[in-house]
Amino acid sequence: MKAALLVEPGRIVVDEIAEPVVGPGEVQIAVGGVGLCGSDHSVFSGTWSAPSYPWVMGHEAFGTVVAVGRGVPRERIGEKVVVEPNIACLACDQCRRGWTSACRARQSVGMNRPGALAERLVVPDAYAWPISGAPEDLVCVEPTAVVETALRRLGTPLPPSVLVVGVGAQGLLMVLALQARGVSVRVHDVNKERVALAERLGAHQDGTEGTNAPFELVVDSVGSPASMNAAVDRTQVGGTLLVLGLDGRPLELTAQTIVRRQLVLRGSLTYDHPHDFEASVALVAQGRFSPGAIVTDEHPIDDAQRAFDQGTSAPGKTWIRVAPTG
Ligand SMILES: [Zn+2]
Ligand SMILES: [Zn+2]
Repeated sequence: MKAALLVEPGRIVVDEIAEPVVGPGEVQIAVGGVGLCGSDHSVFSGTWSAPSYPWVMGHEAFGTVVAVGRGVPRERIGEKVVVEPNIACLACDQCRRGWTSACRARQSVGMNRPGALAERLVVPDAYAWPISGAPEDLVCVEPTAVVETALRRLGTPLPPSVLVVGVGAQGLLMVLALQARGVSVRVHDVNKERVALAERLGAHQDGTEGTNAPFELVVDSVGSPASMNAAVDRTQVGGTLLVLGLDGRPLELTAQTIVRRQLVLRGSLTYDHPHDFEASVALVAQGRFSPGAIVTDEHPIDDAQRAFDQGTSAPGKTWIRVAPTG
């Protein structure tokens, strides 16, 4: 099968590799397309190391079930699906508490098991969710689950107005998810094109509407020292900072600031199996949420190198078409 192989940080070669074998309880998917996100770029650039080279990246995938392993109903063959790419053991202490996102034996497609930028992908039956729709929406189901879960975990009613710091793909989806809940959204990003896209989606740039009142809730989708400084600055006393960004650098934030400003810090990683993903699939499948509005760039798999090279500068989300017919 054809696959986009990361042969060393920054360099992709499209080549033929062996198809993955479908085992008991698994489905084999003919991949239609794959969205690219920040974590893929971290692997591409070498910021996060791949388990080995060559490596197949990609986890925001949709496609069609083409084979099933023992124990999986044959009726699944032909089903259009999206992939829930974080596979939990369901047996460790974290999984038993319901926090499968913190599974101690977590397998992640494209991170520590083979990725989706290939013509075939094998995942456990329960991690291939039936859904059909436009490719742009389908590649956004997984990151939609991330933002929807973050809002679920907040567990508090949302204030009428929220600031989103960083409007890459994840931040833009947060804008849409908040707006869908009737929240008025302000955005902050150093990239003007991203701010312009957020404005086209209905948000307003922070600081342009006269008032400079701080926010009861600020979402940081970057997590860098600079973005966290901006986010903390704009959070009101007693307010909440919801952090989604996975930047690994130490922050300048001090305990003194947290205490004096009486901040509530809430980190949120991915989603918990199966309920969170199921909820996002339903949201998109029923047309109540159209995340594809954040997609700006599409490339065929043969141009995977270019997709990654240009991906970080694209204003919105980039996806790679793997099957010519989608
Ligand atoms: Zn992702
Ligand atoms: Zn586990």
